[in-house]
Amino acid sequence: MRTAFRGSVLHCIADPGEQDAEDALVYFEDGMLVVEEGRVASLGAADELAGSLPADTRVEDHSGKLIVPGFIDCHVHYPQMDVIASYGEELLDWLHRYAFPREMRFADVAYARRVAELFVDELLKNGTTTALVFGTVHAHSADAIFEAALARNMRLIAGKVLMDTNCPEALRDSAETGYTHSRELIERWHGKGRLGYAITPRFALTSSEAQLEAAGRLAAEYPDVWVHTHLAENHDEVEQIAKLFPWSSSYLDVYNHFGLVRERAVFAHCLHLKDAECGLMAESGAAAAHCPTSNMFLGSGLFDLRRLRKLRIPVGLGTDVGGGTSLSLLKTMREAYKVMHLQQQPLPPGRALYLATLGAAEALYLDDRIGNFEAGKEADFIVLDPQGTTISAHRTALAGSLAELLFALIVLGDDRNVAATYLQGELA
Ligand SMILES: [Zn+2]
Repeated sequence: MRTAFRGSVLHCIADPGEQDAEDALVYFEDGMLVVEEGRVASLGAADELAGSLPADTRVEDHSGKLIVPGFIDCHVHYPQMDVIASYGEELLDWLHRYAFPREMRFADVAYARRVAELFVDELLKNGTTTALVFGTVHAHSADAIFEAALARNMRLIAGKVLMDTNCPEALRDSAETGYTHSRELIERWHGKGRLGYAITPRFALTSSEAQLEAAGRLAAEYPDVWVHTHLAENHDEVEQIAKLFPWSSSYLDVYNHFGLVRERAVFAHCLHLKDAECGLMAESGAAAAHCPTSNMFLGSGLFDLRRLRKLRIPVGLGTDVGGGTSLSLLKTMREAYKVMHLQQQPLPPGRALYLATLGAAEALYLDDRIGNFEAGKEADFIVLDPQGTTISAHRTALAGSLAELLFALIVLGDDRNVAATYLQGELA
């Protein structure tokens, strides 16, 4: 089965950097993306490719629209669909006042399944084809999100939360049960379809040393699973970590002490880092998820992209719903632009796209499978429609260049500008 998707086609082949280096982006104004057996077969100018395709090739015409790789969300909590848009607190109060009480609802399996279905459908509607996802402490919360993703053939990574201290009794596991339940989930789901497991301690504040030690043991036993947690989001949080772990030299040192800092470890936020922590991330191959809508909403701080990328630390964007305010990576890109602007750092549109596609794939160590249109990669892509809203139609019609068009889509776009989402070449 071979299908050629015709339209404007754009993807990144490297980090375009602060100047949006032209050779990092590949663009065909009248292009063709050819998909065979769910994988990218070829990409090129339509007039060059069309003549060489076998006669039985099906053609789908998206002329006037922009085909880009599917977006990748490097940090999001599906149970927090319930608390998105909750007013007025910083991180620690927000967790206790809003997030924890709602996460208790996920003790009910049917409820977890219902929210998981809603969540993955919202991702797809927003053009997100891969995500790294927190569940709740309940093992079946991970089952629910994996079942929903598997039914749709999504590439998705998730895990049950590990949390045995400094949280409500009803949301606690133990070092022992956290370990055994995570292990069972890895055996059940990791590598099934396009699914992957992430060992998911919420953060060092809510895990005892015994639990962090057990998480590290699991990470050593399963070197190809992911580690997913939070790091240095909020000043009060960083202070409390220093008190709780007086032997540590930094927040990241706590995770590192327990063997949780490595390739395939993704740390959400990374706002208040010491130089030594940045150095450790760079050496270990660990990645950062930048979550601008959450950082602004909870008043947490400004992510320093220049500092981390100078050290070649992999960085992807995360929506961090429900501290974040939208599942849309387009909206997340424009908030990232504003966060960089406040620090006199440019974030040109090509680089913003990179952070939501290839950069995110690199952060997840999945860039051999997804993130752009290199031949052989899984054909997860979306069709962006400049006409999606009245204002985007008006503004993009005046765009004199690709950069101008893309930037207008980033600043004005939302799910109405995502005309279609494809998973391995099939309409999702
Ligand atoms: Zn988070």
